[in-house]
Amino acid sequence: TATEKARDVVIVGGGPGGYVAAIKAAQLGLKVACVEGRGALGGTCLNVGCIPSKALLQSSHLYAEAKSGFKKHGVIVDGVSIDLAAMQQQKSGAVDGLTKGVAGLFKKNKVEYVQGWGKVKSATEVEVSNSAGETTVLSTKNVIIATGSEVTPLPGVPVDERRIVSSTGALSLDKVPGSMVVIGGGYIGLELGSVWARLGADVTVVEYLDHIVPTMDGEVRRAFQRSLQKQGLKFKLSTKVASAELDGETVRLELQPSKGKGDSETMTADVVLVSTGRRPFTKGLGLEDVGVTTDARGRITVDDNFQTSVPGIYAIGDVIPGPMLAHKAEEDGVACVETLAGHSGHVNYNTVPSIVYTWPEVASVGKTEEEVKAEGTEYKVGKFSFMANSRARSVDDTEGLVKFVSDAKTDKILGAHIMGPNAGELIAECVLAMEYGASTEDIARTCHGHPTLSEAVKEAAMATSFGKPIHM
Ligand code: FAD
Repeated sequence: TATEKARDVVIVGGGPGGYVAAIKAAQLGLKVACVEGRGALGGTCLNVGCIPSKALLQSSHLYAEAKSGFKKHGVIVDGVSIDLAAMQQQKSGAVDGLTKGVAGLFKKNKVEYVQGWGKVKSATEVEVSNSAGETTVLSTKNVIIATGSEVTPLPGVPVDERRIVSSTGALSLDKVPGSMVVIGGGYIGLELGSVWARLGADVTVVEYLDHIVPTMDGEVRRAFQRSLQKQGLKFKLSTKVASAELDGETVRLELQPSKGKGDSETMTADVVLVSTGRRPFTKGLGLEDVGVTTDARGRITVDDNFQTSVPGIYAIGDVIPGPMLAHKAEEDGVACVETLAGHSGHVNYNTVPSIVYTWPEVASVGKTEEEVKAEGTEYKVGKFSFMANSRARSVDDTEGLVKFVSDAKTDKILGAHIMGPNAGELIAECVLAMEYGASTEDIARTCHGHPTLSEAVKEAAMATSFGKPIHM
């Protein structure tokens, strides 16, 4: 109706960036609509990313523990086996519950949920086409693009989501493959490789570089690779996959040394997972027509307030530069709408944690030792092993360490790196400390509950600030 308040903002994309921005905008009193084409809210993260992968990681971890971990605790279970359909169902149940939960939050916060694919016509108009073939135009004062990312295709390796799969296919296999080749040793490949290795697949990770997870602190990364190898994952580093083709019921791969000359080799696998990276998704958005510019990697360029090259059009999350992580997209979303609502939104990109949800988990925030060294900053390092942590000993989960890198003069924390049980939860303390500009001494002088894994964080902080922990 004519008396109805005009929309302040239309958000295109209902992933962690878009849906969080929508809810926050509504909470700040803005009138907001969120356009989503996939038929469910939550984006990549809830539907085919973070959530289903964590569900399968937990189920496969339980299986691996039941098979070989329970015995040392005196729990005897015979004939442990897998019901993959049930496992997949528990995963789907979690996804379904959470995506519907977001729809519920939209209702609660009075966010208008518009189902269909959006096309940005201008800063004040978004055209939406739904599955019934109808087109509507939403008028608004501002637009936020939160269309996320998609799998980057790998030349010579055509994905069919059955034998040659992306992460999406790897989350929905209906049979445990006898063998699996994971192309790309980043966190997505290692998490999904771990899932299928635990369930019985013979998994080989082929990585172009001479090391896995390039953003990880070197020392932690080496310990991590050793741990994965102990679990049965194999690694072919400095190797590229030139091609992969279906050969009956298997896939034939041609591998070559990534640098220099050398013999190529062939390999076969039941399933090949392509996990070499993701790229911004802007197909069908009409960016060129409105003049929104992108960089060489297709990412939408934005200023400090997330505004694109067109005033009134903003972009957040995976579709702009920065780490492609759900919590980063959420922070972008909140800061962007805070600015739109007249507040001052801000994201501290130095304190965005990264977590690999394998077992043990690996979590980090801030700079690696290599980065600090390369910058020429004088620094100190302190470490503590979970072997010497009483809780880790009592639950018999002792693999890994906590490592701090701090400024040699001020002791300000520059980076924290944790490999170990629940590292993803433990890193939160380090993130908060860094957000407050804390020193390792601040953590070392903070009382931590006993016996907890978090004492390993305190002890590593002691090792950094005082040169010595108590228990090692
Ligand atoms: P997306 O989540 O991609 O959402 C964008 C949404 O926009 C999609 O739903 C899409 O359908 C919709 N859309 C696109 N174009 C249009 C259009 N024109 N009109 C309407 N709708 C449109 N991150 C973590 O932090 N932790 C993890 O553990 C983690 N695990 C992952 C595991 C896997 C296997 C994968 C693939 C990713 C994982 N990620 C993880 C990354 C995380 O999923 C992304 O960083 C996050 O989803 C980005 O959020 P976004 O809102 O920017 O985009």
